[in-house]
Amino acid sequence: MQSTTRTSDGSRDLDALLHEHGLRNTPQRQLIYRIVSSSPQHVSAVHIQRQLEDLMPGISLPTVYATLELFAELGIVHKMAMVDGAMLYDTGQQRPHAHMVCRECGRIFDLDIPPVNSAEINAASEHGFTVDSGDLVLHGLCGDCRARLAGTLPSPTTAD
Ligand SMILES: [Zn+2]
Ligand SMILES: [Zn+2]
Repeated sequence: MQSTTRTSDGSRDLDALLHEHGLRNTPQRQLIYRIVSSSPQHVSAVHIQRQLEDLMPGISLPTVYATLELFAELGIVHKMAMVDGAMLYDTGQQRPHAHMVCRECGRIFDLDIPPVNSAEINAASEHGFTVDSGDLVLHGLCGDCRARLAGTLPSPTTAD
């Protein structure tokens, strides 16, 4: 059990934010928020629902999705779409950040740079577009997978 001497889990913020929008904080919203915010990695709705099964059985996947969508709308969680269409969520980091996704193991890494920089925002504004938010996702091969593949595969031969 982790002690929460100060509201480092953000539950008080969640209360305030929901009330601000005329919404009630429910035990289930609280739990979903806690799972997302306590995960070091970015989590999917399916992952969250699996954890909820032990804590609060009977919450359906659509309910989890709806709650996450609500959180994303309110800016409580950050939502990112993967190439395969899956959605992943994270909180915690106060600053917006970019992501790197490994095509081999599927892991997602935080990259501590803004997901949208001023050059892109300026370019968008030249089209009369106002940027609210943006995602930068870099796809490639992580260091572990690179090393693993380099060890497993024979040295590259130029087959025709
Ligand atoms: Zn990898
Ligand atoms: Zn992240």
